[in-house]
Amino acid sequence: MSILEQMSSYDYEKLIFLQDKELGLKAIISIHDTTLGPALGGTRMYDYKSEDEAIKDVLRLSRGMTYKAAAVDLELGGGKAVIIADPRKKTEKLWRAYARGIDKLGGYYITAEDVNTTVDDMEIISQETDYVVGLKEKSGDPSPATAYGTFMGMKAACKDLWGSKSLKNKIIAVQGLGNVGYYLCKHLYENGAKLIVADVNHDKVERVKKDFFADSVSEDKIFEVEADIFAPCAMGAVLNSNTIPKLKVDLIAGAANNQLEDESFHSELLKDMNIMYIPDFVINAGGLINVSEELKGYDYKRVKEKTEKIYDNILELLNISRRENISTNEAAYKLANKRLVNNKKSYITL
Ligand code: NAD
Repeated sequence: MSILEQMSSYDYEKLIFLQDKELGLKAIISIHDTTLGPALGGTRMYDYKSEDEAIKDVLRLSRGMTYKAAAVDLELGGGKAVIIADPRKKTEKLWRAYARGIDKLGGYYITAEDVNTTVDDMEIISQETDYVVGLKEKSGDPSPATAYGTFMGMKAACKDLWGSKSLKNKIIAVQGLGNVGYYLCKHLYENGAKLIVADVNHDKVERVKKDFFADSVSEDKIFEVEADIFAPCAMGAVLNSNTIPKLKVDLIAGAANNQLEDESFHSELLKDMNIMYIPDFVINAGGLINVSEELKGYDYKRVKEKTEKIYDNILELLNISRRENISTNEAAYKLANKRLVNNKKSYITL
């Protein structure tokens, strides 16, 4: 498929290529949709095998950001950027050249950290442009907000499924005990849940066992645990044709991005198995809420209030799913689309 055909498949607004031969800069910025506001999304650095692979990735990721922002009612559009490079070879000059490219877009795209890019990289970018968020002295680490939103979303799902939002005595299997997983376990433990955890990093497992009296299983057994809830907080595509049949839970609610290997097929499979799946891009939006607040002058109280609305969003999408007999994933897109359609105005006219 040609690039323009790929763009027209999900109606992308713009694809921007930045290049500097001497510095080795090869960056692609994808703007999916600016109906609700400027496109915000992180910059990923990865040694893509080909330009085609990088284009596919940046298109897919930027589209995800449109729906994530819309689903939680942020005045932001969807964008994302990739830099084709070995992350071990990043230099200050490269960041500065990239930042000047962002600056020339005049606020159409705002960047943040992502896979293989750090807060320190964003600090360098901020020397050349104001269109960057997630800075040290501002919103900082988004993980606590992501974990809190996931916790609120999980409570909403419990309310819908079992009639009470309480997590007391619920058995929750948590996969991945990194930045988000650890904070999520803390909320769950403090609210009376019993934890069964797994991580490939054994020090992280030991820490959660000690801090929150969790039980642990090996990383390949976490899918088979008999529990009320499974919370994926590690990698993408963990819900697939191999793992889903092993699940012995009633609810899946976790922070990892892109949990379903095949969005439409695997969300339908979970529906058929009567396992409630809470779509990742709605439940894990706390981090985006956190960085977006930096644009207005960071205020943690406002972040907390907005993040708590994830609770209502989840109840709403579960209602849509039940009323229209569609998967929760499809319902989440409907919820986001409703906001996009109701606010149809482009931020910048092309
Ligand atoms: P992280 O890198 O700090 O933690 C990920 C953890 O998963 C690590 O401890 C790692 O050892 C573990 N892990 C990796 N493979 C595993 C496996 N096969 N089995 C068990 N554990 C495994 O990342 P994070 O910031 O905590 O993010 C976790 C997930 O949430 C990611 O998918 C991320 O994209 C998503 N997310 C994070 C944020 C945020 O604010 N950090 C926001 C939205 C979404």
